Amino acid sequence: MSLENVFVFDHPVIQTKLAELREKTTDHRKFRALLNEIGSLMVYEVTRDWPTMPKQVNTPLEVMTGHVLARKVTLIPILRAGLGMSDGMLRMLPDARLGHLGVYRDEKTLEPVTYFKRLPPDIAETEVLLIDPMLATGGSGAAAISVVKEAGVKNLKFVCLVAAPEGIAAMRAAHPDISIYCAAVDRCLNEKGYIMPGLGDAGDRIFGT
Ligand code: URA
Repeated sequence: MSLENVFVFDHPVIQTKLAELREKTTDHRKFRALLNEIGSLMVYEVTRDWPTMPKQVNTPLEVMTGHVLARKVTLIPILRAGLGMSDGMLRMLPDARLGHLGVYRDEKTLEPVTYFKRLPPDIAETEVLLIDPMLATGGSGAAAISVVKEAGVKNLKFVCLVAAPEGIAAMRAAHPDISIYCAAVDRCLNEKGYIMPGLGDAGDRIFGT
């Protein structure tokens, strides 16, 4: 499997939180907190290559040139599990706008079906992070990327928590230009489409359903 454009966060603090989150006895309150904390920590590396621009800053002592993000930011959680990670990322990027995308890939036509879409009108000029904790088959992720690209977005990254090799391969095939950021690449998908060893259904564990 090619891991080109795939960035796996092996940071010990992220790995510690991920191990606790995977534990089946972790309840929805703790699960939600850990997922958001990991989301916050991932922001640092995900945004590392974003361009900055000079900005005049008046310190109490003198005027200097600081550097701030050059472009606006849009976070797009893919419904519904993406919502469980977006708050943590928003904490680090409080000026970001939040788009929402409900999308899946039709099993027969293989075409993306969008059942909910609210994106900022100027999204094409922004840095966009598409968020979905579980990259399983890659069907909805690849479909979501297509929708966002159709909106004219050029600066786009996909952020997840756990990825399956099958999902990475599907994403690579459909969108080789899009970088994937995750905290783990797990073994495989099982016959029901769950990531193994994974953490179960992320949406159910976030929302307690
Ligand atoms: N979605 C989930 O929430 N968990 C999986 O293991 C696969 C897809």
